[in-house]
Amino acid sequence: MKVEVVGSGFTWLNEPNTSFIINDSIIFDTPQSSTKFMNIDYSKIRYIFITHFHSDHFADLHIVVDYVRHLNPDYKVKVFGPKGIFKRLIKMMKLMGANKRTVAGKVLKCFEFIDIKDHMKFNIEGMEVEAIEVKHSTKPCYGFVFKEGGCSKIVGFTGDTYMCAGVMEIVEKSDVVFIDTASRSHFDSTAHLTREEVVDIKKRYPKKKFYSVHIDSRIQDEFSDKLTIAARGQIIKIK
Ligand SMILES: [Zn+2]
Ligand SMILES: [Zn+2]
Repeated sequence: MKVEVVGSGFTWLNEPNTSFIINDSIIFDTPQSSTKFMNIDYSKIRYIFITHFHSDHFADLHIVVDYVRHLNPDYKVKVFGPKGIFKRLIKMMKLMGANKRTVAGKVLKCFEFIDIKDHMKFNIEGMEVEAIEVKHSTKPCYGFVFKEGGCSKIVGFTGDTYMCAGVMEIVEKSDVVFIDTASRSHFDSTAHLTREEVVDIKKRYPKKKFYSVHIDSRIQDEFSDKLTIAARGQIIKIK
């Protein structure tokens, strides 16, 4: 599996927020301004995954949909997201000035929207994907586990989460984990994992590889050196 890091940053900072391109064909989250930061080839996009409806994961969906729609007019791109994703997208497009009467029809011509549920499994391009609900400051939020035929490693993405059964299930099922690390150790942790918690999880699973994402780069503490950050622009090949 090839994971291209569009960004691994944190909300409000002047750096790309956490988002990935997987195997050139999947966009994983569409944070505000993410579309500007890399030369994403939208003509190859076949799937869009949205973990939850916070703007730092969802706000550019209407732009991505427009790009993809114009570049792939004959291909039905699948959009996986929390329940109600289609309605939210159309509301967003109307707010941005799209024609009320025609926009929904145009979008449905080129996209299929799939509402995710906890432990839902689906197959795309030789991969079995499982959605796992995690706990965050908005509900619902999903992480995903990707099993690719021919790849010996199982790859997990936690989405935004604080410590919960869902995130531990993703860790246990995966060999390589892209893990939310947005909270500071002394911060309250009702939205994200703290750095301390991520370091502790790494110690408990020494054979697994962890990439920290959703990183607040302003913060350096005693746990910072122990994290491996998935850097913007990095291409991670997992075999
Ligand atoms: Zn969030
Ligand atoms: Zn976030």
